[in-house]
Amino acid sequence: MSHFSLELPTIQNWNCHSCSECCKQHGIFVTDEDKARIEKQQWTEADGIPTGQELFVKEGTWPGKTWFRLSQPNGACVFLNDEGLCRIHAKYGEPAKPLACRIYPYAFHPAGSKVAVSVRFSCPSVVQNLGQPVSSNRKEIRGYANQVVPANVRDAEPPELSPGTRLGWSDLLPAVEVLDRLFAADDAPVLIKLLRVLYWVGLIEQSKFDKLSGERLREFWEIIASASVDAFGKQTPIGDIAPPSRIGRSQFRLLAGQYARKDTYADDRSLRGRWRLLQMALALTRGRGTVPAVQSCFREVPFSKLEEPFGQLPEEAEEMFTRYFRVKVQGMHFFGRPFYGVPFVEGVHSLVLVYPSVLWIARWLAASDERTSLTRDDIVKAITIADHNHGYSPAFGTWGFRRRVRNLAQMGDIAKLCAWYGR
Ligand code: SF4
Repeated sequence: MSHFSLELPTIQNWNCHSCSECCKQHGIFVTDEDKARIEKQQWTEADGIPTGQELFVKEGTWPGKTWFRLSQPNGACVFLNDEGLCRIHAKYGEPAKPLACRIYPYAFHPAGSKVAVSVRFSCPSVVQNLGQPVSSNRKEIRGYANQVVPANVRDAEPPELSPGTRLGWSDLLPAVEVLDRLFAADDAPVLIKLLRVLYWVGLIEQSKFDKLSGERLREFWEIIASASVDAFGKQTPIGDIAPPSRIGRSQFRLLAGQYARKDTYADDRSLRGRWRLLQMALALTRGRGTVPAVQSCFREVPFSKLEEPFGQLPEEAEEMFTRYFRVKVQGMHFFGRPFYGVPFVEGVHSLVLVYPSVLWIARWLAASDERTSLTRDDIVKAITIADHNHGYSPAFGTWGFRRRVRNLAQMGDIAKLCAWYGR
């Protein structure tokens, strides 16, 4: 008997369309049971696994425990066959696959007495909203949750609101609901909604919470949400927003470059690999010459090309971004334990920065193809690339990365970056 209820995203569809992107993009960790089961399956040359091919790679050790992932020769899972299908699934059925593969793209996060379900947008079917409503897969998702959510999940401490301020779940969750409503508003484009969210979270940063709780705090979340809507109406002239500062742009390029990278565990960790990363970081800081191609889908294009106006975003971008933000908010996938332990306020800043980062990546994809406007496919691909890292790349939880987010917030550059790359 499970002691938690599930909170599913209300606006997301999904079914697997067997594109095999997840088998190429992600490092796949296996549990002890997965490893034992796969070893018993006795894979041979006749199944397409060459003799001598290692199935597992040792990823690290922790006192008393060794972690393994599936090996990825040539950048794809060892069990991916030439038709782009999973050999384990084909031979033994879905339940025989590693737990991580069965659960993807779902993610489960503590939310008081509930568990919030988020969905990973590194899956192209998620980004395009393909398949059945997630809510219609409740039974299947419940089965996954029972396997991965710890029995004491309801004891999880609520994350901080801002550094040094911690509210109980019953005071924190209404703030998450108001944030979702700010993104759900249908009276303004997503860029305006982001400006409102930044204004709202700025008011939270300036407030003291020692005397506010319960109904009065609920009222407070609502009052400042109304103030943010009043501050940024539908007709807010975006063209009047100043360009981001020079330092802000340099900090942003480093952040967006990190979003553009593919940090799978198949990455080159040699001295040469590390040297290459350092060179990339220097190039991104300077922002002169050409952008170093951090993945094979990019070409080296002049930095200046990514700063030019790209015109109106494709029509579908509004819906995709709105759904992205709402799923991440409803799924508690932007602060606390699921997001490097950052407080709510910092998590909101990081979440908003996904918008200019995705648009910077989309511009890079278009420029790699010698285009000066964005297509729907550029946005789809850019979201899959960025979300591969958001909340998962260890680099995003480092002191340097988090300081970059805080600097951009303190300099007032986040709103400017949203407007700059949204033009
Ligand atoms: S990326 Fe998504 S659609 Fe493609 S195989 Fe993986 S789960 Fe299925």
